[in-house]
Amino acid sequence: MYHKFDVIIVGAGGAGLMAAMQLPGASVAVLTKVYPTRSHTGAAQGGVAAALGNLEEDHWKWHMYDTVKGGDYLVDQPAAEVLTREAIDAVYELEHRGLPFNRTADGRIDQRRFGGHTRNYGEGPVRRSCYAADRTGHMILQTMYQNAIKNQVRFFNEFLMLDLLMNDGQACGVVALEIRTGEIHTFHAKAILFATGGYGRAWRVTSNAFACMGDGMSVAYRRGIPLEDMEMYQFHPTGIYKVGVLLSEAARGEGGKLLNGKGEYFMERYMPTMKDLAPRDIVSRCIIQEIKDGNGVDGKDYVYLDVRHLGAAKIAEKLPDITDFARNYLGVEPITEPVPIQPTAHYAMGGIPTDIDARVVIDDQWTPQPGFYAAGEVACVSVHGANRLGTNSLVDLIVFGRRAGKHMAQFIASNDHAPLPSEPEGYSRELVDRLYSSKGGESAANIRATMQNEMDDKVFVERTENGLRKALDTIAGLQDSYKNVQLQDKGKHFNTELVEAVELGFLLDCAEATTHGALARQESRGAHFRLDYPKRDDVNWLKHTLAFKGEKTHDVRLDYKDVILIDDPIFKPKERKY
Ligand SMILES: Cc1cc2nc3c(=O)[nH]c(=O)nc-3n(C[C@H](O)[C@H](O)[C@H](O)COP(=O)(O)OP(=O)(O)OC[C@H]3O[C@@H](n4cnc5c(N)ncnc54)[C@H](O)[C@@H]3O)c2cc1C
Repeated sequence: MYHKFDVIIVGAGGAGLMAAMQLPGASVAVLTKVYPTRSHTGAAQGGVAAALGNLEEDHWKWHMYDTVKGGDYLVDQPAAEVLTREAIDAVYELEHRGLPFNRTADGRIDQRRFGGHTRNYGEGPVRRSCYAADRTGHMILQTMYQNAIKNQVRFFNEFLMLDLLMNDGQACGVVALEIRTGEIHTFHAKAILFATGGYGRAWRVTSNAFACMGDGMSVAYRRGIPLEDMEMYQFHPTGIYKVGVLLSEAARGEGGKLLNGKGEYFMERYMPTMKDLAPRDIVSRCIIQEIKDGNGVDGKDYVYLDVRHLGAAKIAEKLPDITDFARNYLGVEPITEPVPIQPTAHYAMGGIPTDIDARVVIDDQWTPQPGFYAAGEVACVSVHGANRLGTNSLVDLIVFGRRAGKHMAQFIASNDHAPLPSEPEGYSRELVDRLYSSKGGESAANIRATMQNEMDDKVFVERTENGLRKALDTIAGLQDSYKNVQLQDKGKHFNTELVEAVELGFLLDCAEATTHGALARQESRGAHFRLDYPKRDDVNWLKHTLAFKGEKTHDVRLDYKDVILIDDPIFKPKERKY
């Protein structure tokens, strides 16, 4: 089936919906594989950072400093400036569109503290995170979905995008599978935005929803677009043991502490000043070190998050969700028992490279791909560098989602629809037909489990050359096996086995690019920690990696792009001490 719009947005999370609202008068369609308000943005609890200064003095430049330093200086600094300056306006836009933020006594947006956000260039914590109880992301989705409906945005729910169409260097549409019917649809547009989120599902223990499969990254990668800094993947320190479900940083913000199997509050030993509120990459590494030193609980691979000393009343008032998660998933009562936790795969700092207008750029010269945009977790405008601060993702969605929408509005005013390539559905039909007709006998579930275990084992918080090489071999073997995946269910309607098999192909691409980047980057920076290269190396590695998919199945070519610094001594790369 054929559809024609001015703009196609793939993804109905915070980034996609924010962009959709910037296009009044244009015909806009949003494609989403899950119902819009089920997008992973809805899981964000902590809040959205903006230097409003509603409760104490704050400045966007302080926010920028924290972002650059938190990112271990792999941040493109002009992009961080845009993020932190425009955060303020973008949060007010959400407020004016009806988002029910918590309020101060005099009616302004309330703000709370979060790890790594400081006043006056690191002097002490600042209240910067705007929030709506512990469901900020949920409120963003609900508010923006309602606004999008009001603005006549057309939604195609439960459509799985399979391919990006390009003609003569210009993006001109996407092809998608309608999950309900099994039909293939072509969407023809002047501008296309990918806002498809992250790929936490490449790991076994992850905080990410089932839909976070790296779709947008993989589809772009298969069409020759590079993926930037994929080795920079964040592991959040406090995932529920074995399950990975997130226990928000708010638990430690309220005074919760990490406890090892010997009953020691070990963060005091590693980080005497910041203790349990040190940046996520550092806390995750300390947990792993404790486990390696035999200080895990009962010698196993987990430690505790302890909130007992906060008392029943504070726990009930401030941390209701966390308490519920611990009870529901583990049968543990946090008021009287410590909660078993381990680091969990959480957030992609890398992704599809873009400039500050969310235009996809395809090389180290910042050449834009006309008509193609990316925003949100799928994109790498490089504001998070090597490590993202808490509450800085939601702000990335709304700032760069908004910029994407505004730039697309200009682009469609001065450009016509580029013609579709011949046989636009060819690649997608082949992909789906191959899965339906395969008699290869391989099971997608087995391949996925092997990949996830290997990523947990070798492409996790700590990495080594040896481990990464083995992981690459495993992934290459799995790519081969993937060609022989056979479906049990040959039905057309709601064939979730087909959907999962397609998504597995996306995840394998992301795992491959991540592991290649991690092997190449012979230094430790932010979330990327190499036991064999434990120091940051600004002389050789103050640069971004760009992974290009090669001609053959296992070929990956790496290129590099400079990090953009600005001429201000305050942002000059320094050792990251806390
Ligand atoms: C548990 C958890 C808590 C978090 N808490 C915070 C927080 O407090 N503060 C903060 O700043 N950040 C937080 N983050 C990070 C932040 O929530 C995410 O990075 C962000 O919400 C991603 O938004 P997005 O718009 O890029 O994508 P998502 O919200 O993930 O949405 C992706 C969209 O793309 C669609 N899609 C994907 N693939 C396809 C396809 N092939 N075809 C069609 N549609 C597709 C999906 O259907 C969905 O609509 C948290 C993350 C997690 C997992």
